[in-house]
Amino acid sequence: MTLKEYTKKRNFGVSPEPSGKTASANKHDALSYVIQKHRATALHYDFRLEWNRVLLSWAVPKGPSLDSSVKRLAMQVEDHPVDYASFEGVIPEGEYGGGAVMVWDEGTWTPESPDVNAALAKGDLKFTLHGKKLKGSWVLVRTHGWGSSSGKSWLLIKHRDQYTSTKDVTIEKPRSILSNKLLAEIARDGGGDVEKAATGDPGYKPRKAVAAKKAVAAKKTGAPSKRAKRKAAE
Ligand code: MN
Repeated sequence: MTLKEYTKKRNFGVSPEPSGKTASANKHDALSYVIQKHRATALHYDFRLEWNRVLLSWAVPKGPSLDSSVKRLAMQVEDHPVDYASFEGVIPEGEYGGGAVMVWDEGTWTPESPDVNAALAKGDLKFTLHGKKLKGSWVLVRTHGWGSSSGKSWLLIKHRDQYTSTKDVTIEKPRSILSNKLLAEIARDGGGDVEKAATGDPGYKPRKAVAAKKAVAAKKTGAPSKRAKRKAAE
């Protein structure tokens, strides 16, 4: 486990992300857990577990599900420095992972598998999360399907317990646990692309579609609709 790939991919003179050169700044003896919501080329949730002084990292395109019958694809990516767990802000466009990053959940984790290194090698890691949003028992299982030749394709699955739910936690709890901001607000405050980040917020409607609807309404009646007038007055 090394930060070589992490360092190679990033330009720390441009990106505000932690360089990982300072010693691991773990606040507690327990193992850190964090999920960062990240609107890069596509929206995804970066799921990270501290192990051996780095954050093991998986990109989960659809985010975690509390439904134990749902399996979420989790692509293992490069290890990140432990102090990355508190990074929230904007990676400049054109840089690796350019876009808004939110600390969506954080806390600690406890291995359920008795030997974590063996579990990782085997591709079957059971653990308990003690986060602000996610709690209880989970498993990461390496798949044998697409991407399995690289060993990077895993599934994140909730084990059935008192925290299981069919509600979509990514919709129910969309805000940062650090700043209480939505992704678009993080982009706005960090000088990023607000419109792009907003596509990651629940209830987002593209501006173009709204404009097109207004045009259609005006054409039909020959006059601007009430909605169009109200919008124009804003
Ligand atoms: Mn990411």
